[in-house]
Amino acid sequence: MQATSQTEQSDQRKGDQAEGGARLASEGGQPIRTTPFPSVGDISGRRIDEAEIEAVAAVLRSGKLNRTAGTVTTEFENAFGKLYGIEHVVASTSGTSAIHVAVAAINPSPGDEIITTGLSDAGTVLPILAQNAVPVFADVLPDSGALDPESVRSKITDRTKAIIAVHLYGAPARVEELREIADEHGIYLIEDCAQAYLTETASGKLAGTVGHLGCFSLQQSKHITAGDGGLTITADDELGRRARLFTDKGWPRDTNERTHLFLGLNYRMTEVHAAIGLAQLAKLEQIVADRRRTAEQLAEVVNALPGLKTVPVKGASWWIFPIFVDESAAGADANTYSKHLAAEGVGFGAGYIQTPLYLTPVLAESHTYGDSGFPITEAKSQYVRGLCPVTEDLINGGKMLVFSWNENFTDADVADIAAAITKVHTAVTS
Ligand SMILES: *Cc1c(COP(=O)(O)O)cnc(C)c1O
Repeated sequence: MQATSQTEQSDQRKGDQAEGGARLASEGGQPIRTTPFPSVGDISGRRIDEAEIEAVAAVLRSGKLNRTAGTVTTEFENAFGKLYGIEHVVASTSGTSAIHVAVAAINPSPGDEIITTGLSDAGTVLPILAQNAVPVFADVLPDSGALDPESVRSKITDRTKAIIAVHLYGAPARVEELREIADEHGIYLIEDCAQAYLTETASGKLAGTVGHLGCFSLQQSKHITAGDGGLTITADDELGRRARLFTDKGWPRDTNERTHLFLGLNYRMTEVHAAIGLAQLAKLEQIVADRRRTAEQLAEVVNALPGLKTVPVKGASWWIFPIFVDESAAGADANTYSKHLAAEGVGFGAGYIQTPLYLTPVLAESHTYGDSGFPITEAKSQYVRGLCPVTEDLINGGKMLVFSWNENFTDADVADIAAAITKVHTAVTS
């Protein structure tokens, strides 16, 4: 295979276009992009440098690796609390544990129901089961994938204990409306902000501060990472104390008693992870600003193409750049777009996750505790296809394209992504 220079490639592209629309790479044309994009999976798309290396080295040199010995985890929590203007921040081992901490803090009784979405990472839902509550799935909105407040309202029963909303892809979910519903019924709102650092909600608040509790993840693919890690935030003193005790075996170290006040686990973040998290946190505002700048460039191009639309740019922090596809105007569905875009070297996936969470075996077949199926009992019969039609349509119906966004994208990267989408749109609509 012959190497082609950038100039030759772009000449070729112009040549193709001169013929009235470029030939798709999937049909033998020249691909728009032949080099990889910066990725959250490695250093190309991660802002990890001497700051993190030094911070980790300092912890190791101190010999204080556990948070009960050192001070870095507390410093990390305090810094996050300052950025979010919130009293209580509890560090833990993952985003999934951060949600488990939040669910444990509200202390559901076995069989209580928690309403959430089937269009998310399993980490949103598994902690509900771990705490012996029952996940109840509400449907999402077709133009954002965020929980539909009206669907949530229709799922409330006298067993409902909480709502867990997800700020999917970093776009603000309708948490003000959900908080209103929660307050009306005297239940809790938990915000899953694993994809939504510094996302701003409709009322201009930071996502995670509208509900009673907010949860963040420091897993490899998120805006900032420590490999794994989690944070749970709350303004409520009692929830904050329960959250903290839950991560530390229910042990009230603040009163100097070696006792265990309620069922807790050990979800403590290590000083090494906190050191990385603290160094990453210092970069967060720039990371989000850079993601916003480039995502907004692409949003302008995408929203101008009939049948394609991303989420509103206001407040979004762009973990993923989603495109909602209206096949009748866009000329093809998301699956077709995904196939053509991959050939162009711009790998948009169709649908984010492969299966609504309620159709995965853990829920659909109640693989929980032994063969009891507990706590999934009557709810079991609900975990079937058709439960949340919009959710299913977005996941499997060719309605949604997703592209992992990155703070290290350059203007040239965005131009390539925009060119590929425009090229495919032109080809499939002509
Ligand atoms: C990543 C993610 C989680 C789980 O976080 P982990 O750190 O991977 O456990 C939960 N919810 C959402 C929406 C996520 O994107």
